[in-house]
Amino acid sequence: MKLLNIQAHPDDAECYCGGTIAKYVDKGGEIFYLICTKGNRGTYDRNLDIETLAEIRKKETLEAARVLGVKEVFFLGEEDGFLYPDLKLRGKIMKVIRQVKPDIVMTLDPFLPYEVHPDHRTVGILSAEAVVFAGFPHFYPEHLKNGIEPHFVKEIFFYNTEKPNHFEDITRYIEKKKNACYCHKSQIEMGGIQKKETTENRKSVEELGKEAFDELAIRISEQYGKQIGVKYAEAFKKFRVRAGHLVL
Ligand SMILES: [Zn+2]
Repeated sequence: MKLLNIQAHPDDAECYCGGTIAKYVDKGGEIFYLICTKGNRGTYDRNLDIETLAEIRKKETLEAARVLGVKEVFFLGEEDGFLYPDLKLRGKIMKVIRQVKPDIVMTLDPFLPYEVHPDHRTVGILSAEAVVFAGFPHFYPEHLKNGIEPHFVKEIFFYNTEKPNHFEDITRYIEKKKNACYCHKSQIEMGGIQKKETTENRKSVEELGKEAFDELAIRISEQYGKQIGVKYAEAFKKFRVRAGHLVL
């Protein structure tokens, strides 16, 4: 089984589905990442150059991918916080789908109510469109000229979703998920600073940052676990892919 995880930022996959990735690797799956933005505005430090941050985040994400056993990471290098849906970006995403030829694509749920982050909405919707059209040769025919053939994806899994219909028990993989999340040291610092500024807390920035990650990535796994009677789980909205559409 081949799986391509298409994410907006370098830490999305670990937060929302790190346990499932580790589990699928353990079961013999081949996992690939496509990271659309450089994550280069994820800081409160005005003196940190954004291209330096892009390099830091690239290293962090490669380390997290190594912890989880991801086979290869593709980067589109788009600007953090500035993604809006356009057909050129849809083509870039489709090209990687056609290169990797995954059975399953995982991505952010673009239909999550109140999702204000444009990068999350954009990556979710363009990935879904690219998935349902990747098998059609007259979409982006320039790929074919370069030897990149149309491809039929079988299923799409949306994460960070409000109405999950598929759960994965990740109890055995929760430590791996945590370790992969903690690879994103720049984001631990960012989350910690935000928490320190907005609460009366006396803990260190690092402690608060780890707490912020745990709130986002671990506590929700506990809540999903309760729904299916296990300690930790991750949740997805899963569809089968049909010509130009998604079906339950
Ligand atoms: Zn994100």
